[in-house]
Amino acid sequence: MTELLRVQNLTKHFPVKRGLLRRQVGTVQAVTDVSFTLAPGETLAVVGESGCGKSTLGRAILRLHEPSSGEIRLDGEDVTALDTRDLREARKRMQIIFQDPYGSLNPRMTVRETLAEPLLLHGMATPANIRAKVDELITMCGLSAWHADRYPHEFSGGQRQRVGIARALATRPRLIVCDEPVSALDVSVQAQIVNLLQDLQRQLGLAYVFISHDLGVVRHIANRVAVMYLGRIVEQADTEELFLNPRHPYTRTLISSAPRPDPTVARHKLPVEGGTPSAMALPSGCAFHPRCPMAVDRCRAERPELRQLGGTLVACHRADEAVEGMDVAAAGKD
Ligand code: SF4
Ligand code: MG
Repeated sequence: MTELLRVQNLTKHFPVKRGLLRRQVGTVQAVTDVSFTLAPGETLAVVGESGCGKSTLGRAILRLHEPSSGEIRLDGEDVTALDTRDLREARKRMQIIFQDPYGSLNPRMTVRETLAEPLLLHGMATPANIRAKVDELITMCGLSAWHADRYPHEFSGGQRQRVGIARALATRPRLIVCDEPVSALDVSVQAQIVNLLQDLQRQLGLAYVFISHDLGVVRHIANRVAVMYLGRIVEQADTEELFLNPRHPYTRTLISSAPRPDPTVARHKLPVEGGTPSAMALPSGCAFHPRCPMAVDRCRAERPELRQLGGTLVACHRADEAVEGMDVAAAGKD
C-alpha cells in the first residue's frame, strides 16, 4: 500500500499557566503517542467525545499546533522538520476544513476574494486567469459564479461550508483534515456536504482525516476508524470491523449510545457512569478505568499498550474477553 501520510508517536501537551508570574501549574495531555498511516484516496475517521484531543491531533498534523514530539511524514517528507518556508510549500498539499465555516471566512471579503487569495499566493493562478480559476473552483463545490461575488453572510450554513471546501481545494491538496465539517449543519444539509466530500475524493484522489463524533456519518464515509480517549488512540480498525466487532469497552459505549443506532449493529449494553476525566489529571493505568464496567486491579496499575487482535489494534487488557465480559456486566445490571 502506498503511503501518503505517516503519523508516528505524535504528542501534543500544553502547559497550563496561572497567575501574574504565569507559573506553570500543570499540563494538558491533549494528544499522546498517536500513530497511524493513510493511503492516497483513503479516509481515516477519528472519533471520540469532545475534549478527547481529536481537533488538537488534526491541527498538529498540519503544524497549526506545533507538536511536542513525534513525526509527521507526508509523501515521505518529515513535516515536523520543515522551516517556515518549506512548511508553506508543504501546506499546499495538506489543508483543513473547520466545523464553523462562518468563523473561518472573512466577513468583509467576497467569496471571490477569499478564494483568489490562496490561488495567487501559491501560484495556482495569475491575475490574468484568476476569474476563471475561482469560477472553476466554486463550480466544483456545487456553487456558481454568481455566488462568488457575494459575502459570507448572504449564504446558508451549507453554502458556507462549500466555500470552506473550495478554499481548501485551491492549492490542489492531497490530504484534507476535516474537523467536524458537518456537525454545525442541519441533518438534510449534512448529507449533501458528505456526498460532496465523497465526490471530490473520487475525482481528485483526496485523502481525508475525518474528525467527527457522529458515528452514522463516520460509518458512511470512512475506510478506517481510530477511536480516541483522553488523547490516545484506544482502538483502530477497518470501519465495518469496528462497528460489527468493537473490541474496546469505550468503543462499545460510543456505539451503543449513538443517537441513531444502525439496527444491523449489535447492541452492547454498557452502563457507563461519570463524565470524561480531565486531560490535566489522567487516571492511573488505563485512563478509562474509572468508567469501565470491566475494570480490574491490573487496569488501575498498568496502562494497556495498543496490540493487534485480529484486524484490530486495541489498547485494553481484557479486549479478548470483552464480548463475554460486557454481556455479563450488562446482565448483572438488568
Ligand atoms: Fe476497561 Fe481495563 Fe480494558 Fe481499560 S484495560 S478498557 S479499564 S478492561
Ligand atoms: Mg473539536
